[in-house]
Amino acid sequence: MTLKKKSMGRRDFLNNCGRGGAFLLLGGTVGALGARLVRGGEVWQIDPNKCTKCGQCATHCVLDMSAVKCMHLYKMCGYCELCTGYFELDPVSLDEGAENQVCPTAAISRKYIEDPYFEYKIDTDLCIGCARCVKGCVDYGNGSLYMQVNHELCKNCNECAIAIACPADAFIRLPANNPYFDRLV
Ligand code: SF4
Ligand code: SF4
Ligand code: SF4
Repeated sequence: MTLKKKSMGRRDFLNNCGRGGAFLLLGGTVGALGARLVRGGEVWQIDPNKCTKCGQCATHCVLDMSAVKCMHLYKMCGYCELCTGYFELDPVSLDEGAENQVCPTAAISRKYIEDPYFEYKIDTDLCIGCARCVKGCVDYGNGSLYMQVNHELCKNCNECAIAIACPADAFIRLPANNPYFDRLV
Protein backbone atom coordinates (compact mmCIF):
# COMPACT_ATOMS: atom_id res chain seq x y z
CA MET A 1 0.00 0.00 0.00
CA THR A 2 1.38 3.42 -0.93
CA LEU A 3 1.86 6.22 1.59
CA LYS A 4 -0.78 8.26 -0.23
CA LYS A 5 -3.28 5.46 0.04
CA LYS A 6 -2.49 5.11 3.74
CA SER A 7 -3.10 8.77 4.50
CA MET A 8 -6.30 8.79 2.44
CA GLY A 9 -7.48 5.77 4.33
CA ARG A 10 -6.88 7.48 7.64
CA ARG A 11 -8.63 10.63 6.46
CA ASP A 12 -11.60 8.56 5.35
CA PHE A 13 -11.60 6.91 8.72
CA LEU A 14 -11.58 10.31 10.44
CA ASN A 15 -14.46 11.49 8.32
CA ASN A 16 -16.52 8.39 8.77
CA CYS A 17 -15.82 7.25 12.28
CA GLY A 18 -13.59 9.23 14.59
CA ARG A 19 -14.45 12.89 14.04
CA GLY A 20 -15.90 14.59 17.06
CA GLY A 21 -15.59 11.46 19.14
CA ALA A 22 -14.85 13.52 22.22
CA PHE A 23 -18.10 15.30 21.72
CA LEU A 24 -20.22 12.18 21.77
CA LEU A 25 -19.98 12.77 25.48
CA LEU A 26 -21.03 16.36 25.14
CA GLY A 27 -24.21 15.88 23.15
CA GLY A 28 -26.15 14.38 26.02
CA THR A 29 -24.35 16.53 28.54
CA VAL A 30 -25.65 19.89 27.42
CA GLY A 31 -29.16 18.45 27.51
CA ALA A 32 -28.61 17.17 31.05
CA LEU A 33 -27.36 20.59 32.09
CA GLY A 34 -30.42 22.27 30.63
CA ALA A 35 -32.62 20.21 32.89
CA ARG A 36 -30.57 21.01 35.99
CA LEU A 37 -30.64 24.10 38.14
CA VAL A 38 -27.32 25.77 37.35
CA ARG A 39 -26.30 28.35 39.91
CA GLY A 40 -25.68 31.74 38.32
CA GLY A 41 -25.91 30.21 34.86
CA GLU A 42 -22.27 29.15 35.08
CA VAL A 43 -20.40 25.89 35.62
CA TRP A 44 -16.86 24.86 36.48
CA GLN A 45 -14.51 23.90 33.68
CA ILE A 46 -10.79 23.37 33.11
CA ASP A 47 -8.74 25.52 30.79
CA PRO A 48 -6.49 22.86 29.21
CA ASN A 49 -3.94 25.52 28.30
CA LYS A 50 -3.35 26.18 32.00
CA CYS A 51 -3.60 22.62 33.34
CA THR A 52 -0.23 21.22 34.39
CA LYS A 53 -1.50 17.64 34.67
CA CYS A 54 -0.64 17.55 38.38
CA GLY A 55 -3.03 14.70 39.20
CA GLN A 56 -5.08 16.50 41.86
CA CYS A 57 -8.25 16.31 39.80
CA ALA A 58 -8.29 12.62 40.66
CA THR A 59 -7.96 13.13 44.40
CA HIS A 60 -9.74 16.36 45.34
CA CYS A 61 -13.24 16.05 43.85
CA VAL A 62 -16.00 15.67 46.46
CA LEU A 63 -17.34 12.70 44.51
CA ASP A 64 -16.00 9.20 45.16
CA MET A 65 -14.85 9.09 41.54
CA SER A 66 -13.83 12.46 40.15
CA ALA A 67 -16.15 14.36 37.84
CA VAL A 68 -13.07 15.30 35.84
CA LYS A 69 -12.38 13.02 32.90
CA CYS A 70 -9.96 12.82 30.06
CA MET A 71 -11.40 13.71 26.70
CA HIS A 72 -10.05 12.99 23.25
CA LEU A 73 -10.20 15.45 20.38
CA TYR A 74 -9.88 13.17 17.39
CA LYS A 75 -9.26 16.02 14.97
CA MET A 76 -5.95 16.70 16.72
CA CYS A 77 -4.93 13.07 17.20
CA GLY A 78 -2.12 11.61 15.13
CA TYR A 79 -3.47 8.05 15.56
CA CYS A 80 0.09 7.22 16.58
CA GLU A 81 1.19 3.62 16.74
CA LEU A 82 3.45 4.56 19.65
CA CYS A 83 1.01 6.80 21.51
CA THR A 84 2.73 8.41 24.48
CA GLY A 85 -0.65 8.84 26.16
CA TYR A 86 -1.15 5.09 25.97
CA PHE A 87 2.31 3.53 26.42
CA GLU A 88 4.62 4.00 29.36
CA LEU A 89 7.86 5.77 28.45
CA ASP A 90 9.83 2.57 28.84
CA PRO A 91 7.36 -0.24 28.12
CA VAL A 92 8.28 -3.86 28.59
CA SER A 93 6.82 -4.49 25.16
CA LEU A 94 4.64 -2.59 22.72
CA ASP A 95 1.44 -4.49 23.32
CA GLU A 96 -1.76 -4.04 25.32
CA GLY A 97 -0.36 -5.57 28.51
CA ALA A 98 -1.37 -3.56 31.60
CA GLU A 99 2.28 -3.15 32.57
CA ASN A 100 2.90 -1.21 29.34
CA GLN A 101 0.01 1.22 29.71
CA VAL A 102 0.10 4.74 31.18
CA CYS A 103 -3.50 4.52 32.38
CA PRO A 104 -3.77 2.97 35.87
CA THR A 105 -7.36 1.82 35.30
CA ALA A 106 -7.16 0.48 31.74
CA ALA A 107 -9.63 3.17 30.68
CA ILE A 108 -7.96 3.57 27.29
CA SER A 109 -8.38 0.96 24.60
CA ARG A 110 -6.93 0.99 21.13
CA LYS A 111 -7.98 -0.46 17.81
CA TYR A 112 -5.82 -1.10 14.78
CA ILE A 113 -6.90 0.97 11.78
CA GLU A 114 -4.20 0.39 9.18
CA ASP A 115 -0.41 0.37 9.22
CA PRO A 116 0.79 2.29 11.23
CA TYR A 117 -2.36 3.89 12.72
CA PHE A 118 -4.38 3.08 15.82
CA GLU A 119 -7.54 4.66 17.23
CA TYR A 120 -7.64 5.29 20.97
CA LYS A 121 -10.86 5.40 23.00
CA ILE A 122 -11.48 6.38 26.61
CA ASP A 123 -14.02 4.61 28.78
CA THR A 124 -15.33 7.48 30.90
CA ASP A 125 -16.70 5.07 33.50
CA LEU A 126 -13.17 3.86 34.19
CA CYS A 127 -11.36 7.21 33.97
CA ILE A 128 -10.43 8.60 37.39
CA GLY A 129 -9.13 11.91 36.01
CA CYS A 130 -5.49 11.32 36.92
CA ALA A 131 -4.21 13.17 33.80
CA ARG A 132 -1.33 10.74 33.25
CA CYS A 133 -2.35 10.11 29.64
CA VAL A 134 -2.77 13.84 29.05
CA LYS A 135 0.75 14.47 30.28
CA GLY A 136 2.07 11.78 27.94
CA CYS A 137 0.25 13.24 24.96
CA VAL A 138 1.18 16.87 25.69
CA ASP A 139 4.81 16.09 26.51
CA TYR A 140 5.05 14.43 23.10
CA GLY A 141 3.89 17.70 21.56
CA ASN A 142 0.30 16.98 20.64
CA GLY A 143 -2.60 17.64 23.01
CA SER A 144 -5.55 15.71 21.65
CA LEU A 145 -6.02 14.32 25.16
CA TYR A 146 -7.15 16.92 27.70
CA MET A 147 -8.95 17.21 31.02
CA GLN A 148 -12.54 18.44 31.28
CA VAL A 149 -15.19 18.52 33.99
CA ASN A 150 -17.95 16.15 32.90
CA HIS A 151 -21.22 17.96 33.54
CA GLU A 152 -23.24 14.79 33.62
CA LEU A 153 -21.40 14.05 36.86
CA CYS A 154 -20.31 17.38 38.36
CA LYS A 155 -22.40 18.77 41.23
CA ASN A 156 -21.34 22.33 40.37
CA CYS A 157 -20.27 22.86 43.99
CA ASN A 158 -20.38 26.42 45.21
CA GLU A 159 -16.63 26.19 45.78
CA CYS A 160 -15.12 23.42 43.69
CA ALA A 161 -12.70 21.48 45.89
CA ILE A 162 -10.42 20.85 42.92
CA ALA A 163 -10.41 24.51 41.93
CA ILE A 164 -9.19 25.34 45.43
CA ALA A 165 -6.42 22.75 45.21
CA CYS A 166 -5.45 23.40 41.60
CA PRO A 167 -1.89 24.77 41.53
CA ALA A 168 -2.35 26.24 38.06
CA ASP A 169 -5.57 28.24 38.48
CA ALA A 170 -6.86 26.15 35.61
CA PHE A 171 -10.45 26.03 36.87
CA ILE A 172 -12.65 28.66 35.28
CA ARG A 173 -16.35 29.42 35.10
CA LEU A 174 -18.10 28.96 31.77
CA PRO A 175 -21.67 29.71 30.74
CA ALA A 176 -23.89 26.69 31.34
CA ASN A 177 -25.04 26.79 27.74
CA ASN A 178 -21.44 26.46 26.53
CA PRO A 179 -19.87 24.34 29.26
CA TYR A 180 -16.84 22.82 27.51
CA PHE A 181 -13.57 24.43 26.55
CA ASP A 182 -13.45 25.15 22.87
CA ARG A 183 -10.52 23.28 21.39
CA LEU A 184 -11.88 22.83 17.90
CA VAL A 185 -9.11 23.11 15.32
S1 SF4 B 1 -5.74 20.25 39.62
FE1 SF4 B 1 -5.47 21.81 38.01
S2 SF4 B 1 -3.39 21.49 37.18
FE2 SF4 B 1 -3.94 19.65 38.37
S3 SF4 B 1 -4.77 18.20 36.83
FE3 SF4 B 1 -6.54 19.32 37.71
S4 SF4 B 1 -6.85 21.12 36.34
FE4 SF4 B 1 -4.81 20.27 35.90
S1 SF4 C 1 -4.61 7.88 32.39
FE1 SF4 C 1 -5.91 8.85 34.01
S2 SF4 C 1 -6.92 10.58 32.94
FE2 SF4 C 1 -6.12 9.21 31.34
S3 SF4 C 1 -7.86 7.84 30.81
FE3 SF4 C 1 -6.61 6.81 32.40
S4 SF4 C 1 -7.60 7.37 34.36
FE4 SF4 C 1 -8.33 8.83 32.79
S1 SF4 D 1 -17.57 21.27 41.37
FE1 SF4 D 1 -17.65 19.64 42.93
S2 SF4 D 1 -18.31 17.78 41.83
FE2 SF4 D 1 -17.63 19.30 40.29
S3 SF4 D 1 -15.47 18.81 39.84
FE3 SF4 D 1 -15.49 20.37 41.48
S4 SF4 D 1 -15.46 19.21 43.43
FE4 SF4 D 1 -16.05 17.78 41.79
